[in-house]
Amino acid sequence: MQISEDLIRNVVTQVLQEVRGRSANSTSGTISNVGRYGQFTCANQAVAAAREAFEKLRQRPMEDRKKAIEHIRRISIAQAVELGTMEMNETKIGRLAHKIGKLETLGRLAPGTEFLSTQAYSGDRGLAVIEHAPFGVIGAITPVTHSLPTITGNAVSMIAGGNTVVVNPHPSGRKVAAEGVRRFNQAIYEDIGIDNLICVITEPTLESASTIFRHRDVSLICVTGGPAVGRAALNSGKRAIVAGPGNPPVVVDETADLDRAARCIIQGAAFDNNLLCIAEKEVFVVASVFDKLMDAMQRAGAVRLNSSQIERLTAAAFHEVGEGSHKHLGPTKELLGQDASKLAAAAGVTVDPKTELVYGETESNHPFVSVEQMMPFVPFVRCRDVDQAIELAKYYEHGFRHTSIIHSRDVRNMTKMARALDTTLFIKNGPCMAGLGLGGEGYLSFSIAGPTGEGVTTPLTFTRERRCSLIDDLWILGGPGLQD
Ligand code: NAD
Repeated sequence: MQISEDLIRNVVTQVLQEVRGRSANSTSGTISNVGRYGQFTCANQAVAAAREAFEKLRQRPMEDRKKAIEHIRRISIAQAVELGTMEMNETKIGRLAHKIGKLETLGRLAPGTEFLSTQAYSGDRGLAVIEHAPFGVIGAITPVTHSLPTITGNAVSMIAGGNTVVVNPHPSGRKVAAEGVRRFNQAIYEDIGIDNLICVITEPTLESASTIFRHRDVSLICVTGGPAVGRAALNSGKRAIVAGPGNPPVVVDETADLDRAARCIIQGAAFDNNLLCIAEKEVFVVASVFDKLMDAMQRAGAVRLNSSQIERLTAAAFHEVGEGSHKHLGPTKELLGQDASKLAAAAGVTVDPKTELVYGETESNHPFVSVEQMMPFVPFVRCRDVDQAIELAKYYEHGFRHTSIIHSRDVRNMTKMARALDTTLFIKNGPCMAGLGLGGEGYLSFSIAGPTGEGVTTPLTFTRERRCSLIDDLWILGGPGLQD
């Protein structure tokens, strides 16, 4: 009943918007997309509207891009509670306070037009200026784990680069995606008079994703998600920026500040119930400090499960997914992104509902180690020495080269791990989010492109390098021409 009401409301809104658009353009006879505020059921129409918006944006000064971005930042911050609550209610995974926090932080820290510096080379033969030009319309795919936050960060970076974007969101986060995009576009339109800088497919499917991937007016693809969408993007025949999956390991050696390590592991792994792709997923600890670290975790507020409780939890947390040779274990929907107290209940333990993280000792080949589980349970594996810890960390990172973390005061161990894992983010003595500028240096994006190598995406990621050369007597500063 609810679904059909939503569907009817959507159709009516679309028809009204189309009628408004037609009457606004009755003189030219074309159907305008103005007034849609980025809402589309048809991917082809969305791309056409984003193209129209791009053609307008490219005629405008940089100042208008800044104004558009300012509206996205303002709404993300001022309406974070409302939009964060909407995301929580729709996706039903993660933690409300962190959904709100993610929007506020992106509003403040997503990099904007300041990243677009121009380079110049001058000499006897003239001048060369290197600028950063837009691609045009970008096709973006976003995950359920951060639906509106990913769109917010992508939109800021992509518009800063002069592009427009069509988003195919995860179906389970589509409503908050559409509502956020509607608010962004409306504010931008009312200020600079361009609608649809960000377009969203309100009923996203694999078919609409495929239409976007193949559309001739889409110049670049940016996907954020697991392995399947990464493969699909790379097979699209277009240039693709792939922000793929991770399974971030943590190594703790005998020189680490164990209380600090415990606090950091809890902060990172418990954030949004471990939905972050950079979040601590498994910990490899040198045997001589293993028991002390387990005690430190308890002192820092995490609750330890024993081996039989872990096995009960494991039975509820994983199931087989995929077909044929692609069969593997994946996290169950019932526990993915749920509170630590719910995980504890599945293990047969009652804990304070405020508990942020549960943890326990496992073997290295345990599913909680090998699978990107996205749950606030962290397995700890006892290792002979730091070399074995690094070796296991490398193995269970699965070659994603996404994120890894070490707690150590030994620079040689840090260097050894950095070289062995070669991850896009490597964090020493901090929680995972320090790698994205939260409590560490640097800037923030929720699309970290490991497989295709762009790293933490910025406006520069979404630009083409363009060179303009001047070679004649008009070059008056350095060239010999005018003095001869
Ligand atoms: P998911 O892979 O299930 O879905 C991601 C998006 O891809 C969704 O919109 C989904 O509908 C779409 N999709 C899936 N298969 C597709 C296909 N064949 N063709 C087109 N679209 C397809 O992932 P999720 O559960 O939404 O998000 C969690 C995953 O995303 C984790 O693996 C996490 O590590 C990863 N992630 C990575 C980053 C990063 O910056 N690298 C950031 C956030 C999340």
